[in-house]
Amino acid sequence: MSCSDTIAAISTALSNSGISIIRVSGEDAISKIDNIYKGKKNLTDVDSHTINYGHIYDNDKLIDEVLVSVFKAPNTFTRENVVEINCHGGIYVTKKILEIVISNGVRLAEPGEFTKRAFLNGRIDLSRAESVMDIISSNNKYALDASVRQLEGSVYNEVKLLRDKIIYEVAYIESALDDPEHYSLDDYSDRLNEVVGDLQLRINTLIKDSDNGMLLKNGINTAIVGKPNVGKSSLLNVLAKKEKSIVTDIPGTTRDIIEEQINLHGIVLNIIDTAGIRDSENVVEKIGVDKSFTAIDEADFIIYVVDSSIPLDDNDLKIIEKLHDKKYICLLNKSDLASNVDEDKLNSLIDSQVISISAKEGQGIDRLEDTIKNLFFDGDIDVNNEVIITSLRHKELLCKCVDSLKLVEKSLNDNMPEDFYSIDLMDAYRYLGLIIGEEVEDDLVEEIFSKFCMGK
Ligand code: GDP
Repeated sequence: MSCSDTIAAISTALSNSGISIIRVSGEDAISKIDNIYKGKKNLTDVDSHTINYGHIYDNDKLIDEVLVSVFKAPNTFTRENVVEINCHGGIYVTKKILEIVISNGVRLAEPGEFTKRAFLNGRIDLSRAESVMDIISSNNKYALDASVRQLEGSVYNEVKLLRDKIIYEVAYIESALDDPEHYSLDDYSDRLNEVVGDLQLRINTLIKDSDNGMLLKNGINTAIVGKPNVGKSSLLNVLAKKEKSIVTDIPGTTRDIIEEQINLHGIVLNIIDTAGIRDSENVVEKIGVDKSFTAIDEADFIIYVVDSSIPLDDNDLKIIEKLHDKKYICLLNKSDLASNVDEDKLNSLIDSQVISISAKEGQGIDRLEDTIKNLFFDGDIDVNNEVIITSLRHKELLCKCVDSLKLVEKSLNDNMPEDFYSIDLMDAYRYLGLIIGEEVEDDLVEEIFSKFCMGK
């Protein structure tokens, strides 16, 4: 598949800045831009991978002094001819040049279309194409590292390895059915059972880690709950100030809005339900243990705050009861004041960590950060040496792949005929293929011919 028309877009942020880049890709990219460019040489005559000084004209009117990079297919990002116009970074001039490019018969690119072409023209697989967007949108170190690794092919290589194992077995079965003289299926079911077991083990690990991967990428939806005046907003302020929170209005996955993002050494907490915390004027909001209940339901992670200077009461017990099947920690705040909480009792009620802090004096906050790392990532976030799945789409396909492998196991246990195994193995193979965007049609034939000599 390839795309025939030539596309253009402004590739840099549209703001007044030193330089802006307008990127053009397609068969006619060089000749089209040559029509509006004057320099020492025509762009159609320059070497590939060169930067050329000249001027952009709108008919006879000089528009800007520019540097134009020319990259000839196929060694380019899209595998097509690519031209990049480096113009002055004013919004007006950049838009004007884009306009002139478009009026020369070039189409405005859709969002992501350059990367899409890179994929369609076979330069990168689908998982790598997705990672380009992830890199652009990553807001923390770990998310960026995981995306860069994906761009380097970590997901592709892993998926390829798994697929190779599956297609080998399908090819073997097909060959044996076709040529029983040379390929025996005696005792084959034991071998296949083992292979399918190993595959499931590996894929299940990827699936299990993907929850962390997605949390790394998207942030952990976190609720700070507790009775009024225990110090919830003080805590939020300490965390926000310390780590320079990025205050944004990002629609959350729940009905609530994520109102604040806090970056704790690279782990992003999306704080939800801040209304009940921030709005100290609104007594009704402040009272709500009910409010805490809703927040607990909707969050991935709960920070439960207790005021250590006053004894626990029924409201605390009600909140604690709701916490048990969630990931949470309990902060015993106001450690700078004399304690009036029965800590033994609290510890016996809480089946997670209890950490003593003082939001007012900033004490214990480092321990809070370490504890969160431990809770979510076993304290060890090592995206550089592992394949981390950070995409829901990938995770869902891995789950479907495991389902198909389970069906193979079932057929094996039920002593079904061999072609039953092939059907489900091929499904598993196909689901993995969808992760990296590979067609399957010719793969089996290729495998059979490369590994097995059919019809000897
Ligand atoms: P919220 O209603 O749970 O959000 O509680 P606030 O953060 O508004 O705090 C209630 C009161 O407790 C305020 O007067 C805070 O200054 C005070 N406070 C919060 N944290 C601490 C702390 O660690 N030590 C002390 N002594 N006071 C605190």
